[in-house]
Formats: sequence, structure tokens, C-alpha cells
Amino acid sequence: MAYVIGLTGGIGSGKSAVADLFSGQGAAIVDTDAIAHALTRAGGAAIEPLRRIFGDACIAPDGSMDRKKVRGLVFADPSAKLKLEHLLHPMIRDESQRGIAAAAGAPYIVHVVPLLIESPDYRSRVQRVLVIDCAEDVQIERVKQRSGLSEEEVRRIIATQVPRARRLEAADDVIDNSGPLEVLPAKVSALHQRYTELATQARTHA
Ligand code: ADP
Repeated sequence: MAYVIGLTGGIGSGKSAVADLFSGQGAAIVDTDAIAHALTRAGGAAIEPLRRIFGDACIAPDGSMDRKKVRGLVFADPSAKLKLEHLLHPMIRDESQRGIAAAAGAPYIVHVVPLLIESPDYRSRVQRVLVIDCAEDVQIERVKQRSGLSEEEVRRIIATQVPRARRLEAADDVIDNSGPLEVLPAKVSALHQRYTELATQARTHA
């Protein structure tokens, strides 16, 4: 059985940056955000069902989901949010399960799941929880720079996510990403050693 590390953290905490470094070390990455993007880009499996539920207005001229429009819809209307989740969540769950099965030959798998702590289903898939942590102000600054969202919009997203303290409580391992990017590779490399050992042990005892 594959050894699966669940990687989580708030928006802008550095999940993608850390996952890229694990990938560089040889881990397989199954990223639910990347899967959600693939499903909702032009030609993605979610596009036609989205069109049926929300109408043509939710599809951008290039054929992908109009993220800004859909974000506006779900903020304004909780029932639209539920509809969107009922469509996308099962697709993401299935697709990531396929990704895990396909990566069974890798030394171990890093499963990137922003909602890991909130989702018993995803928690049950992972042997260990790795939390990427940084102060809220740092998170906000990084997301503003990356996405052009306003401070208020970022705060609103953070308010919908599990509180930092609860996430840390659930962690087996924590990467503190409040420092510069340059210090991340050494932290990932140390965890990579550990995960390789744990995965080997798990295989020997299986
Ligand atoms: P997440 O995947 O958790 O939303 P990202 O890995 O995309 O977060 O990081 C958010 C933004 O902050 C990105 O633009 C990324 O390049 C940047 N970033 C991540 N870690 C650091 C860091 N330690 N120092 C400076 N910028 C960072």
C-alpha cells in the first residue's frame, strides 16, 4: 500500500511551494487544487455540468470556468455554493483517488488537500498530516501579491477555513514558512529523509 502524507495549510501558506520541493525529491504529488483547476479549464470534465447548473454566464470566453463570476455567485448565495460543491467535490475525490492508485510505485505520495482537517474522508486516506504554517498577516500579503485580491477578500477566505490553532493541533509535522523561500529546501529535505524511512518501514510491516 502506498504511504500517503496529507499536506495542508491555509490559503497562501506555501502548500504549492513546498509540494514542488517534495516533487523535486522524488515524491509523487496528488494535488486537489491542481485537479480542481484541470476539471474547470476549457474542455475539463466539469465544464458542461457547470454550464447546466449556472448557465453560460459562468463560462469565460476561452471555455474555462469564469472563476471571478463563480466566486461572486457563491459568496452571494449559499445554495449556489452547495451546488458547486456537490458537483466538484465528488469529481475531485474520485480523480485524486485515481491519482493515488496510479502513484503506488513512488517512494511515497504527498496528497495536497487544503480542506484536509475539515474532511474525515481525506483524513482517512493519509498516514500522516503535514501542516504548512505562517502568520495570518504573512498569508494575506502573499495572497494579495499572487492574486491581486484585496485584503478584505483574503480575510474573508481565511475566515471560511479552519482556524490556525486547530490545524496545528491536527499536525504530525509542521513546516514553518514565515521565513524566506531560501530556507524551505533544507526543511523539505529533512522531512523527505524521514518520510522515506517511514514509508519503507510501513512497507516492511505490511
Ligand atoms: P498555497 O499553495 O498554500 O496557497 P503558495 O505556495 O502558492 O501557497 O504560496 C503563496 C504565494 O506566496 C506564492 O506566490 C508563493 O510564491 C509565495 N511564497 C510561498 N512561500 C514563500 C516564502 N517563504 N517567502 C516568500 N514568498 C513565498
